[in-house]
Formats: sequence, C-alpha cells, structure tokens
Amino acid sequence: MVAMDNLITGSQDNIAHLAGNPDFEFIYHDVSNFIHVAGPVDAVLHFASPASPIDYLKYPIQTLKVGALGTHNALGLARSKAARFLLASTSEVYGDPLVHPQRETYAGNVDPVGPRGVYDEAKRYAEALVMAYHRQHGMETRIVRIFNTYGPRMRLDDGRVVPNFIGQAIRGEPLTIYGDGSQTRCFQYIDDLIEGVVRLLQSEYVDPVNIGTTREISVLEFARIVNTVAANDAGAVYADGSRIEGDPQIRKPNTALARRVLNWQPQIELEEGLDRTIRYFRATLSQPA
Ligand code: UDP
Repeated sequence: MVAMDNLITGSQDNIAHLAGNPDFEFIYHDVSNFIHVAGPVDAVLHFASPASPIDYLKYPIQTLKVGALGTHNALGLARSKAARFLLASTSEVYGDPLVHPQRETYAGNVDPVGPRGVYDEAKRYAEALVMAYHRQHGMETRIVRIFNTYGPRMRLDDGRVVPNFIGQAIRGEPLTIYGDGSQTRCFQYIDDLIEGVVRLLQSEYVDPVNIGTTREISVLEFARIVNTVAANDAGAVYADGSRIEGDPQIRKPNTALARRVLNWQPQIELEEGLDRTIRYFRATLSQPA
C-alpha cells in the first residue's frame, strides 16, 4: 500500500504505527502535481483534500486544485495502471439542501461564489470528471458521498464541531455553539465509514452512494450529548448570535441505496463512538509532547 499526502492538513503521526510495515510506503507529494507510482496498482482511492471549513477557507486555491487537478492526476494514474478508482466525495455536494433527507438523485443547492463554494464545487467537478472517465474510457469508478464523520486521529484544532467540542469538554470549558444551534447534522463513526468505503470499492455500483448515519440531531443536542459522555459540567455558550454564512441548516442522508447495494448500515451508536474518541484524545493529550 502506498499513501500520498502533502500534509497541509494531515499529520504523519497518524501513520506512525505503519512505519516498520514492509507492505506500506508513504510518499510526501501534492497530488495536484503529476503522480508517479512504480509497479502495478489495483486501486486508487482519492481522499486528498482539506475537509474542514476553516481549512478550506485557509487554502481555497489548493482545495479547488486538489478537487480538479488532483482528481485528474489520480484518474490518470488509475487509467495507466488499469486500476479501479474511488473518489471520496461529500454531502457538501448537496449544499444547503432544499430536499430532506438527501437522496443521491438530489442535485443540490450550492452557491458557487459562497464561502464553501471552493470545496463544494471542487467536489462536484471531481464527481463530473470521474463520471466522464467512466463513460469515455470505460474505467471502473466509484463515488462515495461522505456525511459528517468523526473518530480518533482527527486534528483537535481542525475547527469542525466534533474536535472543537471534544477539546473543550476535555479542558472543562463550555462548548461553543455557532449560530442558534438549531442546525442539524448526522454523525457517523470512522469505522462505519471505512466499512462502507471498502464495500463500495468491491461492489459493481458506479453512481454515487451516500454513507452516513440517519440519526439527525441539532448542534445544541449534540453539545448536550458530548458534555454527558465527557462528564463536562461547563455547559455551552453561543459563540455569536447569527448564523454562519453558508452553514447548511439541515443535513441528513437517505441511505436506502447503501443498504440495498452494499448491504451496509452503521453499527456504532453516537454515544459509543464519542466515548471511544474522547478516550483517545484524553490518552493522547496526557502523553508528554
Ligand atoms: N459548529 C458549532 N461549534 C463549533 C464548530 C462548529 O456550533 O465549535 C457548528 C457549525 O456551524 C455547523 C456544525 O457545527 O453548523 C457542523 O460543523 P462542522 O464544521 O463540523 O462541519 P459541516 O457539517 O458544517 O461541514
């Protein structure tokens, strides 16, 4: 297995446990530039991209480039190796949805020039490019639309709600609610996502497939659950009164397709996944630097 990353938002610490593995190689590379991999390749899984709103606002051009040029290079690599290709896409292709829950057939409500446009449009373009390679070259391609996912090895300062809340809860601080906290999300544990991705890669299904949980909760309710699991009694505060520009008000996948074609459904309850994640961060933070 070969992993490639330019580490602008990732960390090599996350793969430190693989360092001595003879079947694993890490190449420090920005996939927006031409990709070279020696020898045969069975599958190319293109997950490269900043994924947190604060990251893609910090790296707007790299985010567009990795969705466009990075996807193009990764498809080119897969084509030259006659390898299967999987694109990590996102629920953000649905934007601030006007259809709820979101089925794969919903085309979305995205503002190309809004603050999230750099990420949303990059992923929408990436999906279009993947389907073009499939249709024109007959390539074996797969597209997974990933909904909010959390778990160990996230960056505690990546700005997303799960690491923010967990960091705050561990430090005994109040959790910061953006907007009025009524906006909803569904949170899935990383192991469930990986199971869905592997099943999709091995399936024969070409059109996009949603992978996410269907337990929809408001950010306010989520804060209450995090505080309960972490035993934090500092409560929550409103970070600012207004809604963040471009922040989707509701989000929930319809996962009937994943159940039907992948026989997949999430196994790990939110409280259980949060407990595992909080334990991981407590253990990591208590280690000497
Ligand atoms: N959010 C929040 N407090 C935080 C971080 C995020 O209330 O400290 C909100 C954010 O405004 C959004 C939701 O939590 O409504 C999920 O945000 P995240 O950045 O995790 O991902 P998104 O689903 O928006 O891509």
